[in-house]
Amino acid sequence: MKAEIISIGTELLLGQITDTNAAYLASELPLLGIDLYWITQVGDNRSRLVDALRRACERSDIVITTGGLGPTEDDVTREAIAELLGEEMTVDPEIEQWIRDMFQKMDIDMPECNIRQANLIPSARAIINLRGTAPGWWVEHENRIILTMPGPPSEMQQMWEREIKPELKKRLSGDIIVSRTVKTLGLTEARVDEMVTPLLHSTNPTLAVYAKLDGIHLRLTAKHREQAKARELIAQAEEQLSDILGQYIWGFDEDTLESIIGSMLRQKMLSLATMESCTGGLLASTITDVPGSSDYFKGGLVAYSAEMKATFGVDDALLAEKGTVASEVAAAMAQAARLKLKADIGIGITGVAGPAELEWKTAGTVHIAIDADGKVSSLSTRFPPRRQEVKRRAVFAALFILRQLLIDWK
Ligand code: AMP
Ligand code: MG
Repeated sequence: MKAEIISIGTELLLGQITDTNAAYLASELPLLGIDLYWITQVGDNRSRLVDALRRACERSDIVITTGGLGPTEDDVTREAIAELLGEEMTVDPEIEQWIRDMFQKMDIDMPECNIRQANLIPSARAIINLRGTAPGWWVEHENRIILTMPGPPSEMQQMWEREIKPELKKRLSGDIIVSRTVKTLGLTEARVDEMVTPLLHSTNPTLAVYAKLDGIHLRLTAKHREQAKARELIAQAEEQLSDILGQYIWGFDEDTLESIIGSMLRQKMLSLATMESCTGGLLASTITDVPGSSDYFKGGLVAYSAEMKATFGVDDALLAEKGTVASEVAAAMAQAARLKLKADIGIGITGVAGPAELEWKTAGTVHIAIDADGKVSSLSTRFPPRRQEVKRRAVFAALFILRQLLIDWK
């Protein structure tokens, strides 16, 4: 089964947005055993889009498009497909009603142009969109499938996950594909690659290594006619990975560091507080991404200046002696957060987020300390000096150390 993705939108060709839709779909297709041979990007231009669609239908079995389903005149995906197949579009009363209801629920008068989104051709059926007004199209024509989805990534992904992927899975009888992602932190990609070399050559399951900000992820993918067998293949390889990578593994699949520490804190009935400098509140924000985090997170202080650190309880003399970027200061921040917010555990982060052009000597330096009932664990490190990345990595590193500490917690 050969597939082609067509990403539609002039903003892609102008470099104003990145084609994350194609990247997302490209990572999904192998799991269904579908081979992706081409990704095409085309602007909001009807005749060029018809050309792109025609070529795609000539060389692929499945053509997946995203974008160009908006209500305005410049969104022409529906028109282009109708033109290619020589079919006439008509407004489908059921979809029209559905769109009108959507607007009514939002308490907004429906602009008349939104009617365009209720158009269908005989070869298409509508695919429901729970996050927006544009339904997708599932088109079947002369042994070709054209799947048309809206451009906004959250709408596209939900439509893919809920409506399209299960249907494709059903149709592509054959091998069942099972995958598992193993997440590590604390090793470089090159080091992980080296350590898992024997598994990298395996063809079933296959192993792919990805570098992310929360560490190196390893994705195992197994194929087998029987689901149980595919799972068994994955389980064996996962055991090998855990022997090799041991303590560096912090989670699997949908796990996030914040969700992992969240369940550990809850289970141990411990509370947490933070004081942040260079991360500007990102640690607190990340911790509170987890629903129910108020059960264990007392709160966070953002002490960006030296004065504010002192106001929140970091010793003046220490700040005068060490400056604001020092491991001793991180430890004092962790302690101050714990005491001020009456928590069992305090985390302090201070550092220099960069960029290198501004602070070339120190950019990327981060000191993290965790004070658990007076016992301090700390890490001083230097990340590649890109501002946003330093902040995010510092947060993940702090959560990773916290996880370690909670594992060892008596
Ligand atoms: P459209 O459906 O073409 O009106 O797209 C609506 C919005 O979806 C665009 O403004 C982008 O923000 C987003 N979008 C469209 N295509 C893509 C794509 N290929 N990758 C990521 N975002 C996209
Ligand atoms: Mg568009």
